[in-house]
Amino acid sequence: MLKPRFFRSNKYEVGSKKIDKDEYYGTLKFNIHKFSNRVVPTKASDNVVFIAFSEFGSEFVPLYYTIPELLNTKYVGKYAVAVGWWGRSFLYKHLVDEFWELDESLMHLRHRARAFHSESKVLKSFEKQIVSFGTVVGSNDFAAHATCPTMDRCKACNAPVLLKKMGQECVKCSRVYSLPGLYSNVKRAVKTALWLPKISSEKLELAKKLLPPNPIGLTARGRKCYDRNLPPEFYSGLVKSLTEAGYSVVWFAEKGTTQPTPEGVLDWSAFPESSDLEMTLALVSLMTMTVQFWTASTRLAGAVGVPFIVFEDPDQIFGGGQEGYRLELCSRGKYKIVYSHFSKAIADLDRLMKDCLIAVDEVKNENFKSFCSVLDGAEEIKNLIERK
Ligand SMILES: [Zn+2]
Repeated sequence: MLKPRFFRSNKYEVGSKKIDKDEYYGTLKFNIHKFSNRVVPTKASDNVVFIAFSEFGSEFVPLYYTIPELLNTKYVGKYAVAVGWWGRSFLYKHLVDEFWELDESLMHLRHRARAFHSESKVLKSFEKQIVSFGTVVGSNDFAAHATCPTMDRCKACNAPVLLKKMGQECVKCSRVYSLPGLYSNVKRAVKTALWLPKISSEKLELAKKLLPPNPIGLTARGRKCYDRNLPPEFYSGLVKSLTEAGYSVVWFAEKGTTQPTPEGVLDWSAFPESSDLEMTLALVSLMTMTVQFWTASTRLAGAVGVPFIVFEDPDQIFGGGQEGYRLELCSRGKYKIVYSHFSKAIADLDRLMKDCLIAVDEVKNENFKSFCSVLDGAEEIKNLIERK
């Protein structure tokens, strides 16, 4: 068994700006969760390691699709290890033999996650070393499985490309490209998803006891990268309005990416049980709905089929962004998208709040139709919604 490696200690200041600006130096620590009784093979060719240092919103695509597919095809019978963020072991329990969970003290590295990969030098370095333990399947493989387009012509020699069982092959130079990715046919792909296992009845019982009546989940984006965080006053106003409308707001957050909790709200992240993702999913599964703004925390409700509302940039759904595909691939239940540009919304928070309350009311009445909130070019987006 490969022991987690030591990196030369230079400076290690949790919570300081220095860490995000520069790079982290210190000890890369993992907590090992062993799920099977299988003995770890000594030959690296018998092991496969899935590197899951993705953003939360992207992590679920390989989780539901790429990893199960590879374990059923290319890596049948291999000893499988997933390596990922702290608190995520429940996601991989049904899939692999072991989960190597990054220590909680290193969760600030999440700020370096970008879609399927991480820009952390220390995590990249780990990925290079781990090849001595097994075949590494990482962000490039996940991205190709999701995004590879249907090829008409070979990029190298411009000859036609044919779709074969193992990939798309050039008829002239025999160059092989990945199979067309999940995004190329989302409706077909979603039928192949391997969803998470059922939540245990004990955890559901405990969640029932913890929850206030008529609970609605709210996650407040507080990320350092990309920004797009709404001010705390907006959230306290929203909490007040939702409480007046008869809901009990439950504040969801993951360490390192949250905002301060508004007063009078049940703060799930303050419970020690919140470190257990299965417990969090148990709680979400009993919600009336969850609400979020420009964040992929919708994956929680999506995983357990609970309705959710997401305010999203139209470019993510109709343009160059990929969140539209991911929402479809990762949501077991119904959801409502409210289109809004963050830069416009931040200047008209009253309207944003009003539209959020309208959306909540509509979802309560089973109306999941998308609509436009504060944004540029609303007419064009309305047309796109009608055609969708
Ligand atoms: Zn070619």
